[in-house]
Parts: sequence; C-alpha cells; structure tokens
Amino acid sequence: MSTTPRRALRWRTAFACLPLCLLGFLTVSPPVEAQDFRLDDRAVPLAQAVRLKLDPAQAGYSGAVRIALEVRRGTDTLYFNAEGMTFDRVELIAAEGSARPLETEEGEWGTITARAAEAIEPGKYTLEIDFQQTFNTRAVGLYRMEQGGEPYLFTQFQAIDARKAFPCWDQPEFKIPFTMTLEVPAALEALTNTPIARQSTADGWKTLVFEATPPTPSYLLALAVGPLEAVEIPGLSIPGRVVTTKGQSHLTRLAVELTPPILKALEAYFGRPYPYAKLDLIAVPEFWPGAMENPGAITFADRILLVDGEHATLGQRRALARITAHELAHIWFGDLVTMTWWDDLWLNESFADWMGDKITAAVYPELKAEVSAQGGVEGVLQGDARPSTTAIRKTVDSPSDVMEDLGLAYSKGKEVLGMVEQWIGEDAFRKGVNQYIGDHAWGNAVAEDLWNALSKASGKDVRRPLVSYIGQPGYPLLSVRVETVEEGPRLVLTQERFHNDGVEITPQQWTVPVNLKLGFGDTVETRSVLLDSPSLTIPLSAVPEWVLPNAGASGYYRWQVPEAMLRTMAEGADGIFTPVERVAFLGNAGALLDAGTLGGDDYLAILNAFADDPEPQVISALMGGLGKVRGAFVPDDLLPAFHRYVQVTLGPVLERYGLEPRAGEEETISALRPQLITWLGWLARDEAVEAFARRQAARYLEDPAAVDPSLAGTALRIAAREGDGALFDNFQKRFEEASNPTERGRFLGALGAFEAPALRQRALAYALAGPLRPNEIFAIPFGQGGTDAEQDRIFAWILDQFEVLAERMPPRFVDFMPRMGGGCSLERLRATEDFFAVKERRTEGAIKNLAKVADQVHDCVHLRQREGAVVRRYLEGLAPGGTAAGSSGP
Ligand SMILES: [Zn+2]
Repeated sequence: MSTTPRRALRWRTAFACLPLCLLGFLTVSPPVEAQDFRLDDRAVPLAQAVRLKLDPAQAGYSGAVRIALEVRRGTDTLYFNAEGMTFDRVELIAAEGSARPLETEEGEWGTITARAAEAIEPGKYTLEIDFQQTFNTRAVGLYRMEQGGEPYLFTQFQAIDARKAFPCWDQPEFKIPFTMTLEVPAALEALTNTPIARQSTADGWKTLVFEATPPTPSYLLALAVGPLEAVEIPGLSIPGRVVTTKGQSHLTRLAVELTPPILKALEAYFGRPYPYAKLDLIAVPEFWPGAMENPGAITFADRILLVDGEHATLGQRRALARITAHELAHIWFGDLVTMTWWDDLWLNESFADWMGDKITAAVYPELKAEVSAQGGVEGVLQGDARPSTTAIRKTVDSPSDVMEDLGLAYSKGKEVLGMVEQWIGEDAFRKGVNQYIGDHAWGNAVAEDLWNALSKASGKDVRRPLVSYIGQPGYPLLSVRVETVEEGPRLVLTQERFHNDGVEITPQQWTVPVNLKLGFGDTVETRSVLLDSPSLTIPLSAVPEWVLPNAGASGYYRWQVPEAMLRTMAEGADGIFTPVERVAFLGNAGALLDAGTLGGDDYLAILNAFADDPEPQVISALMGGLGKVRGAFVPDDLLPAFHRYVQVTLGPVLERYGLEPRAGEEETISALRPQLITWLGWLARDEAVEAFARRQAARYLEDPAAVDPSLAGTALRIAAREGDGALFDNFQKRFEEASNPTERGRFLGALGAFEAPALRQRALAYALAGPLRPNEIFAIPFGQGGTDAEQDRIFAWILDQFEVLAERMPPRFVDFMPRMGGGCSLERLRATEDFFAVKERRTEGAIKNLAKVADQVHDCVHLRQREGAVVRRYLEGLAPGGTAAGSSGP
C-alpha cells in the first residue's frame, strides 16, 4: 500500500479446479486462541469461490461463497471472518456430500464463531455461505461512491476489510486461489485481479466469471464496477490498461508513458517477469490511501494517477513515478511473496519504498526523487526520537497494532535497507533478495528469511544491524571527536540513543553501518565502518577540517561534531556536500536544536546560511526549518518579526528565480516557486507577491491553461484570502464542476482560505454538508488554521462536530483525530486528553495517537521555554527591511 483491496456462477466448474489448486504454499504459524485477533489453524482454507450480485445503484448486495477447507483438528467450532453481514445460509458440506448447518455469532473484529451440533472430524469440507450486505460508504471494504451522477463500486481491503465484503479467512498467511463471479447490470463494466474467463448476458444482467487467481491473500483482492473506461498501456510484458471512471480517460497519458520503463526495470532487477496475467492501474475518486498493490488491479487515488500530461507539475510526475514504482515493487515483494503475519508488514512497505525510490532514481533521474524523499525521512526521524515511538517490528494483537507507526515502516525501514545495501554492496544485496523471492514465490515469509538470504549472499552477518534497527525503537546519535595521540591523529566515534532535551529515554545500542566523509583541504575522502560497540577509534593519516558522519545521507541516525566544525560545514555546504547531504544536514541541525546541543539563534543562523544554496530542493528543506521555527517559537505577537526574518531569508531567493516562470528553467525551480510564494505572499504578506498571485488567480479563472500549473493552487488560495461571497460562490461552483482531480483539489484547498468570518463559517458548514468525499473533509478546516487563535477556533469546531466527522471519515482517519491537539499548547493538549477520556472515543488507536501528540506538545513547550527568549531577541533584533546581521553565526 502507499501512505498506503468477487462472485460465483458456475460453482461446479469453479470447484473442479480445487484439487489442482490445492497448493502446498500455506505456511501456518503456531496455533493461537481463536478468539484472538488472529485465527488459528484448526481449519485452513484451500480455495474460495465468491459470487456477488452487484448493482451500484442499490444500497446493498447479495452474495455467496464456497470455501474449500481442511479441518486439521477435531472440533465443533470453526472461526472465520465476516463483518456486519446477514447470513441466509451457513452450511458445512462433507466430502461425501452430506450438509450440516452451523450456528454463527459475530464477535470482535468481525470474527465469526460457527458451531456445529456435533464434532467435525478432521478432513476436507466445503463451507457454503449465502449472505446479504450493504455497501460501505466510507471508502473501506466493498464501497459505493458517486462521480458525475453515476454510482460506482470499488474496494480497499488492507488490512482487515475484505471481511466487510464477503466471508473469508482474512489473514495474509492464507494465500489461496480465489475464483470470482460478478453479476452486474449489463450496461456496466466490472473488473477484478484476473482476466475475464467467460461472460454471458441475460435479463439485463451480465455475468462475468474471472480466471482463478494464483495463491493470493484476501487483503490483495480488488474489484471495480461502473461505467468504467480503459486505455491500453503498450510496451508491457503482459496486457495493461489504465482504468478510469466515465469521462476521465483523457487524463491517462502520463501514467501510460511512465509505467512501462518502471516495470521493465523491476523485471530486470528481480530477474523474473511480472508474474500475473494482466495489469490494470485503476483511478479511484474516493480512496483513502495513496495506492494499493492488488496484483493485476492496482488502485490509486485518482488525483495521483490522473494527471494531465501537458499540465503536470514536477511534483505530480515525481509522485506518480514513485508511487507506481512502489506499488509495482510490491508485486514481487508483498504479492508474490507475502508476510506471514502483520508483524512483518514493515517488510513489505520498507522494501517497496526502498525499491520504488531506487527504480525511480534509475529510470527517471531528472525527477530528482532521492532529494525530495529525504524530506520524508526527516519527518519520520522526528517522531522516532520520542518515547512513544515503537519498534518497526512488533507484536500485532489488534487492528490498531497493524497500522500504528506505519510511517516508520516506510521511511525508517527504507533507510535501514539502504544502509545494509551500501554496507554489503548492491550485487550481494540483489542476489540475496532474489534468492529470497525465489525460495518463497507464491508463498509467505518472515523477516528472518530475508536476513538469512542477505547474509548468505554477502558473507556478512546482516542480521545484527537489521535486528538492532528493526527490533528497537529510536535510533543512535553518533558523536565525532578528532584527537591526536602519540600514534598520530584519530577519529573517535561514539553512540548513544538520540533523544530530545529534557526527555527520559531507555538507553540502547545499535549495530550501525557508518559512512564518513572527511575533508582535508581540497581532498575529500570517504570511509565505511561498522560501529557495533559504544565507541570506535579510527586511525587517520591527517587531521581533517571537517567530518560529515552521514555521507550520502544513507544512514538512519543523527550525528554531532564539535561546534567549530559544524560552522565550517554550514558555511561551505554547497561546495562540499551533495544536495541530499545538504537536506539531511538541515534536518540534523533541527535535531541538534531539539536535543539541546544547538541554540535557537544558532539554528536560525544556519538556516540563513543555506538561503544562498543553488539547489532549489535544499531551499525547500530550509523552508521546512522555517516551519519548525514558526511552530515552536512564534506566538501570534511575534509574527511580524518572524515575517521580517522570512523576507530577509527568502526574499532574495525569489528575486533570484523571479515571480514568473522562465522558459527552459530547471523544473526544480518551478516546483520551488509556489513554496516561496506561499511563504512570502501567504504567510509574510509581501504585497508585491500577493498582488502577483491575485493576478495569476484571475487569469486562471478565465483560462486555467494560461497559468503555469505549478502556481495555480497557491494563487487561488492567496486570491481567496480577501475574497468576497461572490468569489466563494465561484470557487465552490468550480470545485463541484471540476473535470479533473487536480482542479478539484485546487478549488477545494482555496475554499479553506477565505478569511472573512462569515465565509469561514460557510466553508466549515460546506465541509460537512457539501458534496465532499470522506477523504476530503479535512481540506477546509486544515486550510484555515494558521495563527494560534485560528488553531484554537478550528480545534473547537472539530470537537463540536466530532461525531458527525467520525461517522463520515474513513475509519483509519478517526484514529488520527487526537493529532488535532498537536502544536505547542498545553491547554489544547489537556482539552484533547479530556475529550478522548470519554469511553466511546477512547479507542486503542486514539490512545496510541494521544501518546504521540502528548510527546510532541511537551517537546515543543520545552523547546519554547528553553530557546524562546533567545529566538525572540534574534527575530526582534532584525531591523525592519534589514538583514540578518544580528546573527552570531552557527
Ligand atoms: Zn506499499
């Protein structure tokens, strides 16, 4: 998934294949109590046929499943998964044909207890269930949505929502062939993971029987029904299409172009062709993750997949390439080989993210995806520094355990795999990965299987660094000291667990592959070492002027060097470090501020020193630093001084690149410009920049093609700020009539930017009552919260509307609701804790998120207390229109 998945006409035919399909792929772990979240192995599915009668115009549907089972132990009770449906018939059919009814009861997490009157002897059976269910409307399970007045059905099953669509053994270890049969109104199209085997039409209904899937876990199944359109993707090793809702197929060109080289590169890396019969990339208008790797039927949020090729921004093309590469990497890593249990979900996601970035960088180097990806890693490092973080690999006993800290699985896991690849070498890493894929193809595996394969391929004990990173929360802080002893100069590297100032944390040690970059005058050297003890001494030939302890930004750790060395590095950064190293340098400086080893004024001076950086993506990282300063140190009364600092720091950058895009400019500049305009025009209220943005917005309203696509969204927001009711009407109309997802997103974002109090209220009311999709509801309220006062107002509104919001949102979003209490206010944190102290709101997911919010707020408050005065002096010391001359240097 990217951050973040059927039917039976001819039962006899479908089941005729069962003996052939009884594949020995099932790897079932030791039994656990069946009333647990995880089903035990008393009965395991061997194959399943699903038949659904689906009319998207209706509120619900009927269906039937036949599940071939092996009962392994004598029992009178079976357990399987089905959530919220009505059973018309539940019967267990013995091999010789006798049928017996089962009494069922639904328990927690959609676990069904099915009891027989007498003991069920071990052996082969078929479980037959006829059922009825309503369509979900919150973008999970099998759900219904409308687009352009037409109803559609789509699915999203990861992690445990296949059970909302039909009864099944809803666990990744149960990889079985599924045979889907869909009956749909004859005028509609329908698809699933596999090609259509045959179809017939009668009485206005079309019956589609799909080919049996290869062994597939339930969470990877998918279907789509509606007036769908499809455009062929030529140049793949299998038939491929981009599938859209009605009237959207003209937006598929970019996906059609970008996909084949990515798939080809992956096939070359894995040394085996795409292993499924077809590939559909499906654009779903209402979708809560970014994309989902269902084999043969990969689903995407439409805003990601459907990008107008002629008017796509760099960011849109980069996101489409990265996400496509991530999902396609899952085809081998996740689909062909699947984790046995959710405790190894990190393995799927870490690998797909690492591979996706690697392939994107190789196939589309012009997108500079590796530099922008570093920004995501920096965000994860911040959360992973706090006591409420978890180890990537952890026990999973409940649905909330599956999804907790999934961001870590993506970015931390990716970094850790990257560190190991660099340590053992690309060839050994690839050899190990392909051994692992070959050994477990069509089956399941656990993390140890990958570690063993990598160790064998490299001759190095890969397990040690991996276990130390995957099995422990947090990460190390490496300290560098250079000293000269009798034998000559040497570098001493020590490690301790990184933590923010004022926070108690359990001490830990890691095994860290470290890449050092050392500067000796005009010479730069790199050294790789394995730090697997509290400290390591490295002899040197001379005393270096500087040491970058994370060369290539490939390591997942923070570092500190003596203050003078840090200053030398900050001042000369663009001459000695790569763009990705400079982005990581800024992130590391922010961490040193949090850790208490860098003062607030020194941090501001470092940001200032990077304002001359020639790489636009480094400027983007610098703006991330400004956001940190804004959040931690700038109460509303200090805003004017902070805005002056922003102007001093970023004004010259915008001057350098110009307000108007220039013909033939680097695309990273075009991508940076709207961020500069947001900081200077939206936040710092630079009048000339605001006026420019308003002119662009007026042009866009006349003719969207007349405005550079990178500027449109920002321009509309700035124009909305002082806009009146008529402009609001216009934006609302444009949002509702938008013909493509990008335009829809732009106008929705702008509706949250109107500042007149009556229009703010109107926008909030519209967020609840307008034709917004569940995944769009927060665009307006989050667009409104800028100042402390505004944040408090939005916070109050969210609390007030909580029940209404929670009912409409994708369930996963509800767990995140405590995050609205984030920021730098203890009062708001306390109000959040009180609000979620109420039993009905106190879900497991809410408790976990509350802990993370509390850590974040306490860190912020502590930082403000510690450095607030010094930052205030620094900011207030800037003369109006002056320079940052008051800086003392880093
Ligand atoms: Zn994924």
